[in-house]
Amino acid sequence: MYINCLALSGDNKQFLSQQLLWIGISLGISLAISFLIPFPYSLPIIIAVFILLSFYVRKRTLRRMGMSGASMFGYNSLSYYCMNCGTKHNQASCPKCGSKMKRVGS
Ligand SMILES: [Zn+2]
Repeated sequence: MYINCLALSGDNKQFLSQQLLWIGISLGISLAISFLIPFPYSLPIIIAVFILLSFYVRKRTLRRMGMSGASMFGYNSLSYYCMNCGTKHNQASCPKCGSKMKRVGS
C-alpha cells in the first residue's frame, strides 16, 4: 500500500474532527453527571468516563482505519519507508535525502 503525505494529512483531518465530536460528547456527559451528582463526588466519575470514552474512541478509530493491531498510543508499530531511497524512518521527511514521500510498512 502506497500513500503520500496528502493522503496522510487527509486522514489526520478526519481523525481530528472525529476527536472533536467525541470531546463534545464527553463534555455533555460530564455536564449531565455534574448536574446529577454533587461536585466532589462527580469528579472521579467524570474522569473515569473520559478515560473509558477515549479508549473506546481510539479502539473504534483504529479498527475503522484497519489498524486494530496497531499500538493504542500512536502508530509506533508501523514503520515508514522513504519512497525515494528506501530508508526506514518515522519523521515527516526522510533524514537521509529529505523526501517527504513515504510508504507504510510493518
Ligand atoms: Zn530518503
